[in-house]
Amino acid sequence: MPKHEQTLLLVEDNADNALLIRELAEEMGLRLLVATNGQHGLDLARAERPGVILLDLALPLVDGWEAARRLKADPRTAAIPIVAITARAMDGDEQRAISAGCDVYLSKPVDIDALEHLINDYLKGAGRGELA
Ligand code: MN
Repeated sequence: MPKHEQTLLLVEDNADNALLIRELAEEMGLRLLVATNGQHGLDLARAERPGVILLDLALPLVDGWEAARRLKADPRTAAIPIVAITARAMDGDEQRAISAGCDVYLSKPVDIDALEHLINDYLKGAGRGELA
């Protein structure tokens, strides 16, 4: 079980996208943690066990696909839903993200209303995979 249900972890190296998510988290009354590389994201996820992880795929140090695999392989973080977010919507990316353990995949620019609904559903405990 996540330790901090009302916490959102954003792993994103793009400042503009981070600002957008920060505004959304404020609007939703959620605590937001931000990591700008995959390794820091993994460290924060293990320490804080947030309710949802928003994961950019193109990241320094540890990329999003590898981060997702490690999160799902670790019993401390395996149950946390992962929303993959990427600017490079290339053929096969979505399938690679899902195979790596991401629960759902969104392309940039992110539809902020859709993302809000997703986060709400995950925080209410909708089962993994039901929203994909
Ligand atoms: Mn990136």
